[in-house]
Amino acid sequence: MAKLRIVHIASEAAPLAKTGGLADAVGAMARAQEQAGHKVAIFLPHYRIIRQLGIVKPEVLIPSLPVHVAPGIRQEVSLLKAELPGSKVTVYLLDHARSYDRDHLYGTPDGDYPDNPDRFVLLCRGALQALKEMKEEVDIVHAHDWQAALTPLYLRRTYAGEPVFAKAGAVYTIHNMAYQGAFPKESIVRVGLGWEMFTAEQLEFFGKVNFMKAGILYADRITTVSPTYANEIVTPEGGFGLDGLLRTRAADLAGVLNGIDEDEWNPEKDKHLAAPYSRRNAAGKAACRDALLAEFGLDPAESGQVLVLGAVARLAEQKGFDLLAEAAPRLMKHPLRIALLGSGERRIQELLEDLARRFPGRIALRAKFDNALAHRVYAGSDAYLMPSRYEPCGLGQMIAMHYGSLPIAHAVGGLVDTIRQVDPRKKQGTGFLFKAATADAFAKAVEDARNAYEDEPLWKKLVTEAMAEDFSWEPTVKRYDQLYADAIRQRAKRK
Ligand code: ADP
Repeated sequence: MAKLRIVHIASEAAPLAKTGGLADAVGAMARAQEQAGHKVAIFLPHYRIIRQLGIVKPEVLIPSLPVHVAPGIRQEVSLLKAELPGSKVTVYLLDHARSYDRDHLYGTPDGDYPDNPDRFVLLCRGALQALKEMKEEVDIVHAHDWQAALTPLYLRRTYAGEPVFAKAGAVYTIHNMAYQGAFPKESIVRVGLGWEMFTAEQLEFFGKVNFMKAGILYADRITTVSPTYANEIVTPEGGFGLDGLLRTRAADLAGVLNGIDEDEWNPEKDKHLAAPYSRRNAAGKAACRDALLAEFGLDPAESGQVLVLGAVARLAEQKGFDLLAEAAPRLMKHPLRIALLGSGERRIQELLEDLARRFPGRIALRAKFDNALAHRVYAGSDAYLMPSRYEPCGLGQMIAMHYGSLPIAHAVGGLVDTIRQVDPRKKQGTGFLFKAATADAFAKAVEDARNAYEDEPLWKKLVTEAMAEDFSWEPTVKRYDQLYADAIRQRAKRK
């Protein structure tokens, strides 16, 4: 495989800026591609959190870079440069205080920032403008999610004649179909496009401008983050209105499973834990479990053994916590503890706070974003809750398995592709999948886990199996190598 110059454009990349799995995926993919020999860069907004975390000390590369976003709209950004920690991946940070020096990435718990279309158009345009200035040829522009979705369109139109992009294939990855970037129709002008683009064939969608449509229409290859999700998004149930459009591009659409960063998520070397442990020497997990119960203020014991359930998630409708709330009275008849870590929508936070109040000492919520604590939840739990309504790939379940916490999950999307159903008779499997999105089906799956847990040799066997699963990035990188080659070929054909 030829070594490529790959440029990712994304609104998150771990460990610099993260609200969810997008960050893990972009950061880890870039790192794995660099290890495979490619030359890799990521463009990110220079958010306040990046400065506050202080993990990187960026240098100023271009102090003043004018970005023409639209006729009459010109922004002045600075381009900063750093290295993604633990790698040679270049991170380009677009510095524009008015847009990015804020408390949050996308909005407050009460809602999105109203100028999000302007903030993320600046990311797309700014990245391409900076690449043009740098005069280094690009082989692949890889845009992620709605925030970067206009990039393939600008590449094909505004920047089509630029020598640095002469061979560049464009790839667009959908990490979540539900977030499409839909904005009032006037945005069409603010992103530098004419009203002729505001049609059903182009970016119009139920009277709004839909950024994701640009990615789907203009990329050479479209990917999403698991094979099952690739099948789901071309159906009316999973397509969130864009299934028809996606079907027109079915030949160019691929589902490629994400991996997890096995350096970050490794219980043997995890500095956040009370005690390290591994598949062969799992003794430390008991200490992690005790520590977790203490840290969450959960009762350590009652008659019989308790099953400790964990969850780490964005508090969004998608994650299915309403099923947990509904199932809680039934679940609490069993010896269970539930440790929840999450941040996001206020309504869901209140729902979970109410649960914790009703079942003190047995259910606890920490309502914040806390990476170190997330590590301890994975390590300290016996089983991991993922009742997601839909789940494009899902990293939580893969991380949990690596930490010997067996997922209890709704059989959708990437959860189907990564979890093998436990069969107690054959003593095999890695998790508990339930099919119907109902509180009863979910509670039944928890009860199955609880029963398996009582059979100590069985549980040990399942945990060992889960911890042995391979969720490395190598196969994903190889598959993307092929897709990149396809994209470059498609681009050449078009010329
Ligand atoms: P999604 O991308 O939909 O948010 P994933 O399961 O793919 O869901 O990825 C979620 C990632 O974000 C995991 O790495 C998880 O540990 C992390 N995460 C989510 N919420 C929190 C939180 N409140 N604190 C720390 N980490 C979190």
